Amino acid sequence: MISVSTALSIISKISYTPNPKTIPLKNANGLLLGENIISQINMPPFRQSAMDGYALLLHDENSYQIIGEVKAGDADNYSLEPGQGVRIFTGARVPDNANTVVIQEKVNRSENTITLDSEIHANQNIRAVGEQIRKGATALTKGTKLTPAGIGFLAGLGITNVEIYTPPRVSIITTGNELITPGEKLKEGKIYESNSIQLETVLQQLHIKQITNYVVHDEYKSTKETIQQAIDNNDLVLISGGISVGDYDFVKEALSELHTEELFYKIKQKPGKPLFFGTNNKTMIFALPGNPASSLTCFYIYVLPIIQKMMGADTIGLKRTTKLITQDFIKKGDRAQFLKAKVSGETVEILEGQSSAMLYTYAIANALVYIPEHVDSIEKGNEAETILLPQ
Ligand code: AMP
Ligand code: MG
Repeated sequence: MISVSTALSIISKISYTPNPKTIPLKNANGLLLGENIISQINMPPFRQSAMDGYALLLHDENSYQIIGEVKAGDADNYSLEPGQGVRIFTGARVPDNANTVVIQEKVNRSENTITLDSEIHANQNIRAVGEQIRKGATALTKGTKLTPAGIGFLAGLGITNVEIYTPPRVSIITTGNELITPGEKLKEGKIYESNSIQLETVLQQLHIKQITNYVVHDEYKSTKETIQQAIDNNDLVLISGGISVGDYDFVKEALSELHTEELFYKIKQKPGKPLFFGTNNKTMIFALPGNPASSLTCFYIYVLPIIQKMMGADTIGLKRTTKLITQDFIKKGDRAQFLKAKVSGETVEILEGQSSAMLYTYAIANALVYIPEHVDSIEKGNEAETILLPQ
């Protein structure tokens, strides 16, 4: 059995070179750029009006003759004399020799003449060519995570495809004779299977789309065959349950028989003691404890950093901070603990119901309080290491 810190240091030393791939921009949300994106155009491409009003070539008087109109999208270029202007709208091309745009609220118009209420300055309300980005400049750098805004920005530069780091293909293997698929009738001795949807949901939150589900009974041969198939077709295999020491837990034996290299098995922690991590060829394998809360905590603490590496990220794991605990805490036993908790402002409350089988507490938690192995108690009002859960 190893400590949490040893397990995390093994995880942090795993090196992984993510594969770049070109995909449509519209499918790239949440993924990391595998290339620098160079703008092929100036943005804006022409001098653009930022307001609805009048584009003018200034002179010393306060009235102007309006000689035309430019709507958004029009290509027309008017040549203005001093004292002339055109009606113009937001996003429209400003005539080359206009030197300001005055907003319509500051203007009195009578037929084709406008009079200005107040003094007007040059260079107002005109977006310069390339003001946002110039042709040839780097729009976004390699490693940037694409967001809806990032995707909008690149689309505005005319980009339709981007090279991203390919997210891993992940399989989830669920083990357990007692499990029934939700929607079916519950029978004596059985429970509804919930780990696979929980894992699938957290993978989807990470923008992983290639997810394959397998279900196996507590039986050696099919467990081994299914694990082999999952290893052959995926970059990451997550196995739920069957990794403890019971007579019907076959995952460990099957992994060994398949020549999986064990990187660790069993961590001095609660929940999630029987966690296994190994590699087989290039596939990473985690065997997660079957208890639903243990499974999710092991995912957040150990699997997530590996997935982040696979996706090309260098921020590893969930955000950690310190908060002041709202009650005295006394630890039972000598293992490190991850406790479901609720942060509000600068405080954190350790919630009732920490059993690793209990998901209700997790469902209302927004954080995990980490109690290291060597800490036995924390007094109310003192700092506790707090891991913030993704919301
Ligand atoms: P195991 O790790 O297989 O010994 O399972 C530990 C506990 O977790 C048992 O009470 C199982 O019934 C429960 N469990 C295992 N897998 C699942 C699952 N996929 N969904 C819900 N509960 C599970
Ligand atoms: Mg089981």
